[in-house]
Amino acid sequence: MEQQQVSENVEQLRQRIQDACKKSNRSAAEIKVIAVTKYVSVETAQNAVAAGIIDLGENRLEGLMEKMEALGTKPAYHFIGALQSRKVKQFPAGISYIHSLDRTSLAKELDKRFKDKEQVNCFVQVNVSGEASKSGIEPDDVFDFIKDLKKYESLHIVGLMTMAPFEDDPEQTRPVFKQLREIRDRVKQENWSHAPCSELSMGMSNDFEVAIEEGATFIRIGTSLVGNEKMSE
Ligand SMILES: *Cc1c(COP(=O)(O)O)cnc(C)c1O
Repeated sequence: MEQQQVSENVEQLRQRIQDACKKSNRSAAEIKVIAVTKYVSVETAQNAVAAGIIDLGENRLEGLMEKMEALGTKPAYHFIGALQSRKVKQFPAGISYIHSLDRTSLAKELDKRFKDKEQVNCFVQVNVSGEASKSGIEPDDVFDFIKDLKKYESLHIVGLMTMAPFEDDPEQTRPVFKQLREIRDRVKQENWSHAPCSELSMGMSNDFEVAIEEGATFIRIGTSLVGNEKMSE
């Protein structure tokens, strides 16, 4: 996608974030935009960074490596996809956030990988909607899961992440986001040093306004920001 188009999209997105914040009495400064570049070229990702984006999201290790190699460490990188335990060894140290921590075996592998390095920021992925196709911890198990992560000293649990089901009417996703916030509030209250759990990674192109109204602090935007260059292949 051309620079000018990406810049226009960023501007439009900022305006929509502004409006959603106004509606819910929040400050736009609380909302961080992750540009999801999984379907676009290195060039388009570069255009996003030139347009003022500082957070990039990828859902595959290969894509992450490709963008990191080309763009260096100026942007912060977010891994937002399903992560196989056996691939954790290849994980680049320069990663800022992992949004898909969803099982103990993965926590164990990540802990090994990041031992003797800086702690790695993790979101625990929650399957709020209960759809079989979605990964994530069951809502009822999140509290105990996070409590037990204390023994993995390389992991810093910054918040919770979820994906809402796709709905033609984004209003339908509201209960999912609301429930994630309620679980977050309950964990946060514990003041666990390994899990401040203050962030909420929720909201995509189709539903980010509702997510913001329900407390999102990171929104993950692909299509409406940088497009989908794989669609025509
Ligand atoms: C692809 C993806 C997104 C972005 O989706 P869009 O609808 O293109 O904005 C967000 N989060 C995750 C986990 C994704 O895989």
